[in-house]
Amino acid sequence: MTGKILVSACLMGHAVRYDGRSKPLVHPAIDRWREEGRLITICPEMSAGMAVPRPPAEIADGATGEDVLAGTARVMEITGGDVTAEFRQAAENALALATETGCRYALLIDGSPSCGSGFIYDGTFSGGRQNGRGVTAALLKQAGIEVYSDREIDLLVERLKVAD
Ligand code: SF4
Repeated sequence: MTGKILVSACLMGHAVRYDGRSKPLVHPAIDRWREEGRLITICPEMSAGMAVPRPPAEIADGATGEDVLAGTARVMEITGGDVTAEFRQAAENALALATETGCRYALLIDGSPSCGSGFIYDGTFSGGRQNGRGVTAALLKQAGIEVYSDREIDLLVERLKVAD
């Protein structure tokens, strides 16, 4: 067996989302990976000191996680608070944990301004989606970690069959 998997805490049933809920992913591979000790769980936003519940946040102006990392975009709460620094710290915490624990893969919930990897919201808080990564997903990918969304878990299963 090679490669641990960094996983979004809300996917593992932890009630850490902005709305105080979880979004557990039910899949036989999750149980198997847990038994194998492969899963390293983190909520990046909580690791950066953000509260539960907290106001919903989106990357502003249709920008992406890569833009936030480059310093050209901000992450804003619906209430007007600028949480860019917290989101960058969240991403750095996730990468540090992945590095310490030898994670070569990440399984992250889609749509989040931190964990999204297939889509994120467009910054208008109106439900508009766009292709793109959240801040944590972007930093992990830049570091060479293979990032899969929750909808891509079967792809990760297949990937690990080749890697193991
Ligand atoms: S930062 Fe990631 S793990 Fe934490 S609640 Fe948001 S989507 Fe879930």
